[in-house]
Amino acid sequence: MFRHTLAALAVGTAAAQAEPPQVVATFSIIGDMAAQVGGDRIVLEVLVGPDADSHVYEPRPRDAMAVARADVVLTNGLEFEGFVDRLIAASGTDAAIITLSDSAQVLEDPAGGHYHYIGEQAIWHAGAHDPHTWQSVPNARAYVGAIADSFCEADAEGCEGYRANAASYTQDLDTLDVQIRASVDALPSSRRTVVVAHNAFRYFEEEYGIHFLSPQGISTEAEASAADVAGLIREIRDTNAGAIFAENISDTRLLERIAAETGMDLSGTLYSDALSGPAGPAPDYLSMMRHNADTITSALAAD
Ligand SMILES: [Zn+2]
Ligand SMILES: [Zn+2]
Repeated sequence: MFRHTLAALAVGTAAAQAEPPQVVATFSIIGDMAAQVGGDRIVLEVLVGPDADSHVYEPRPRDAMAVARADVVLTNGLEFEGFVDRLIAASGTDAAIITLSDSAQVLEDPAGGHYHYIGEQAIWHAGAHDPHTWQSVPNARAYVGAIADSFCEADAEGCEGYRANAASYTQDLDTLDVQIRASVDALPSSRRTVVVAHNAFRYFEEEYGIHFLSPQGISTEAEASAADVAGLIREIRDTNAGAIFAENISDTRLLERIAAETGMDLSGTLYSDALSGPAGPAPDYLSMMRHNADTITSALAAD
């Protein structure tokens, strides 16, 4: 957990000052959206920080304390944060619990889940719906609207400001959405397939038309069967996949092996389920999506 924004109490008459709303966001991506909407009027705690995997996160006692004193808890839902239901129950909080994916266009997951690559293990993350909704900018726009609604509910006096922040941020999201579509549209139609570590980009695929392949349950151990790897390599060749990417929350060893066997190099790092730290290329949602789109399209355009 890290303190993302310190509340700066509004200057002016003491009579007009209320306690700033205490907001908890479960992970860095929705934490950034909360900061954009709340500005310096909220006190924000983000539980799962940059480059960390929410699916395997183990909450600490201070996370329960943050949830206990919160007025609003922002979660993604769709079983993305495996820890969150227990944490909320254990905290005894009376905060408003907001499930942001309720506002999104949600995709069913025909595979019934996806794999995470942690250390040397492939870990199955089951779910009837794909939780990675924020990988489409229109869904992010819906999240921002739901965040503003929840802040207005918790702090009516701040509502006008939250709405204004949300409106201006939504314009930035709209610009981003147009840019991503234009950069993908500029690619030759034969150059639309890439390989990633975990299957987190189905919303990006659906929205923008890049096809993503990913290893399905192949162990990252050195003795992972050649047959398992061969299946993916065949798919990479059959689909003429143009690039392979590392990912900020996944182990890269399996991808390096696949890249080596196909004679390709890794073409950079994508940010799927967490932002980068402040010095990285994806310290906020807009930068993250721009970085991912630029990394994908420049790798595909290069050949
Ligand atoms: Zn997952
Ligand atoms: Zn994921």
